[in-house]
Amino acid sequence: MADLTQTFDVLVAGGGNAALCAAITARQAGATVVLAEHAPRSMRGGNSRHTRNLRALHPGPTGVLTDSYLEEEYWDDLNRVTGGKTDEALARMCIRASQHAPGFLEQCGVVFQPSLSGTLSLSRTNAFFLGGGKALVNALYRTAERLGVVILYDTEVQHIEVQDGFATEAIVSHRGFPARLRFKAFVASSGGFQANREWLRKYWGDAADNFQIRGTPYAQGRILKDMLASGVQEVGDPTQFHAVANDARAPMEDGGLAMRLDCVPFAIVVNRNVERFYDEGQDVWPKRYAIWGRLIAQQPGQVAFAINDSQAQLNYLPPVFPPYRADSIAELAGMIGLDAAKLQKVVDDYNAAVRPGTFSAQTLDDCRTEGLEPPKSHWARRIDTPPYYCHPLKPGITFTFLSVKVNERARVMMADGKPSANMFASGEIMSGNILGQGYLAGFGMTIGTVFGRIAGEEAARAARN
Ligand SMILES: Cc1cc2nc3c(=O)[nH]c(=O)nc-3n(C[C@H](O)[C@H](O)[C@H](O)COP(=O)(O)OP(=O)(O)OC[C@H]3O[C@@H](n4cnc5c(N)ncnc54)[C@H](O)[C@@H]3O)c2cc1C
Repeated sequence: MADLTQTFDVLVAGGGNAALCAAITARQAGATVVLAEHAPRSMRGGNSRHTRNLRALHPGPTGVLTDSYLEEEYWDDLNRVTGGKTDEALARMCIRASQHAPGFLEQCGVVFQPSLSGTLSLSRTNAFFLGGGKALVNALYRTAERLGVVILYDTEVQHIEVQDGFATEAIVSHRGFPARLRFKAFVASSGGFQANREWLRKYWGDAADNFQIRGTPYAQGRILKDMLASGVQEVGDPTQFHAVANDARAPMEDGGLAMRLDCVPFAIVVNRNVERFYDEGQDVWPKRYAIWGRLIAQQPGQVAFAINDSQAQLNYLPPVFPPYRADSIAELAGMIGLDAAKLQKVVDDYNAAVRPGTFSAQTLDDCRTEGLEPPKSHWARRIDTPPYYCHPLKPGITFTFLSVKVNERARVMMADGKPSANMFASGEIMSGNILGQGYLAGFGMTIGTVFGRIAGEEAARAARN
């Protein structure tokens, strides 16, 4: 049983990848470290336990990554997805440091594997964790325990006392009982606020009740809110989030990756009013999958329906829940509660607009519509070969963008522009510094690993001084 009355060198709030990387690094630097994870042991690991890979710079082939992925290309990819809403110096530093992220994780017991082909074709840019995020999180906890990090489960950090940018102590709820934790340096790694519906409701109103939270229900943003209220500088758009098209039948929380549906490019998508609302074939799926959650969030009832036929069934990952299936469009409409005549007309109008082309599922092919609004720019084939299928869709939120501002040493910046004396941040809670909008697959774990290591090192140094 740990003595919680002692003053620890470093308190890390959070229990995902960013927190563990910070705690392990601080401990390796000689600090005494306590890690407070709000979740019970069985639910530990935040969103990190749902992940599969991280994006890493590499000058040549590695054991698991093919070819090379260099700074300029990585930076271009990031700059494009964020539309320039990023901090270039911080982003480039993170990109360069990503080269060493897989090696660090391997030293902590994480095993990598070559990517499986088929899903998002990331074998050149992203290193995949053998056993997924759960295996990664388990390996990191094992390493932290072996090094002597004190791990407190069921421990919510509720408030950090801050005076003139200096954090003095934390008020926590430890297994349901109030307690105080004293420390010399603090690392905030407690993720975003995407599971806090009340907070989301501020920007989205009642629509937020229909959002599925893809990851941990513990992402309540309590420390984020607390730090911002204590004079920490904020960065990132609070209304922005990363969201994908999820199966509407998925659990409202913690459904994870398998609930995502990749059928959109090979379907037409209508809302509850049986209207198409966006070009389903705008670009290859890895570049577009992250806009569909938000698009569906803007539809009435926050629900949409992807309609296709038997020709499309082998073009995308099979879903966990089987699609609705019928021998006619009218029968399908009846099963999903849509107006049958309207749906038939949408399909007929679409079919009439499809131009002949050569279908190619993996490339931007020339199968498109003409004279249809919105158009379907690629992979447009007539929907005329029964059985007909429908996947019901809802927005699945991955994470929010609002963050605490940090500098390149992961030090938290105060609203008056001065760096905090002893507060640091890593992972989702500071990712808005680099991701102003948009997302690059695998970059969340890169940010957590890179800034986790820096925050751990700097927190240990701050505790020594
Ligand atoms: C389904 C899914 C798949 C994903 N796949 C990938 C992928 O393959 N690659 C990738 O790079 N990214 C992926 N992401 C995004 C990725 O999960 C995040 O970017 C990353 O996990 C963030 O790490 P983190 O440590 O900052 O946050 P988290 O892993 O979410 O950890 C936050 C931790 O803080 C704890 N916590 C919260 N509040 C408190 C509090 N007040 N006190 C104490 N503890 C608290 C939580 O319990 C949790 O343990 C995915 C996300 C989801 C949901």
